[in-house]
Amino acid sequence: AQICDFFEAHEGSPIHQLSAKHGMDSSELPGGDLDIPFGYGELISRLAQPLVDDGTIRLGHKVVSVETSSPRKHSKSVASEVMVRCEISDGDEQVFRASSCIVALPLGVLRSGLDPSHSNGPLFSPGLPGSVSDAINNLGINVMNKLELTFDSRWWPRGLGWLDIGSSLPGRSPTYHPFSLFLVESEATPSKPEAPNVLVCYLTGEFAKRAEQWTDAEAQEECMEAIRRADFPAMEGSAGEVPDPTGVHMTRWLSDPFSKGSWTFLAKNSGLLSMKTFRKDKECQKRGLFFAGEHTCDGSRKGLDIGTVHGAWLSGEVAAKRVVGSN
Ligand SMILES: Cc1cc2nc3c(=O)[nH]c(=O)nc-3n(C[C@H](O)[C@H](O)[C@H](O)COP(=O)(O)OP(=O)(O)OC[C@H]3O[C@@H](n4cnc5c(N)ncnc54)[C@H](O)[C@@H]3O)c2cc1C
Repeated sequence: AQICDFFEAHEGSPIHQLSAKHGMDSSELPGGDLDIPFGYGELISRLAQPLVDDGTIRLGHKVVSVETSSPRKHSKSVASEVMVRCEISDGDEQVFRASSCIVALPLGVLRSGLDPSHSNGPLFSPGLPGSVSDAINNLGINVMNKLELTFDSRWWPRGLGWLDIGSSLPGRSPTYHPFSLFLVESEATPSKPEAPNVLVCYLTGEFAKRAEQWTDAEAQEECMEAIRRADFPAMEGSAGEVPDPTGVHMTRWLSDPFSKGSWTFLAKNSGLLSMKTFRKDKECQKRGLFFAGEHTCDGSRKGLDIGTVHGAWLSGEVAAKRVVGSN
């Protein structure tokens, strides 16, 4: 059960859906670990802000369709035109035209865009080549959510790092892990008395899907019940009792229309070829379509790791070089 727990927590998916051949394939990058003050979002905001300020990144533009001119048969070079239609506010839209486009939409959004009953119609027109839509459908999309709980005072032993609750449930385990892993995201210390006391509970796989249906208040109630059942106050250095949190927030990456899942995993019937297809499909390239994002990372170079931030970043650089090379 512990091995299942470990893989499922890492991959965010029930073990019976994971490819036995792949998984945990990431390369090790040089350099040590760093803590980013105020969280990871701070890094992204700082990198993106200058581009938002100069208008290169347009926030509030929801891509609703990507239209391309069909490639001419047997033609090696054809002037492609890509037309990207965006919804910007109620009813308003803006259209962007270019000779090439790097599509960095997440895999879940791409998959829902293939669905003919999609609210805005198909995302790609004409439809994507079969090999690319197969890759979109065959790769796995996992669910990992965070339930963040803020407490007025720290009740866990100082400097703990994380808390684990054995998650075996009669009839449910080993592929169902309610409230098993908590990270101490922040805690007040004598040198930082103003720091908030925050525990983040990682919810994975089938349990994460179920939890998305709860309100934040319901999730808090269920989670606090699990924490109290675990009898943490018995730990050395714990406060006598666990207080109620003063703040709660849960992510819902599967229901979020801008993610529709957390990240990609290699499911039973998929392999590295599925990711390579995104980067190498010739028909897409003739149409001026290039793909980037964590789901396009096939490990073919160091750092091009599926399901990671650095992989997503590198895939963007690789795609940009291809666009430059194709023009
Ligand atoms: C809980 C959790 C923990 C993780 N931990 C780690 C970790 O420790 N290390 C690590 O390396 N990775 C981690 N990851 C994975 C990492 O976050 C992803 O691999 C990475 O963010 C993927 O980047 P991306 O650019 O491919 O996709 P995204 O970050 O999803 O970016 C896609 C962008 O497209 C936008 N978008 C979606 N639809 C539309 C639309 N229709 N129109 C316009 N824009 C749209 C979205 O808003 C988003 O900004 C974690 C993920 C989760 C959920």
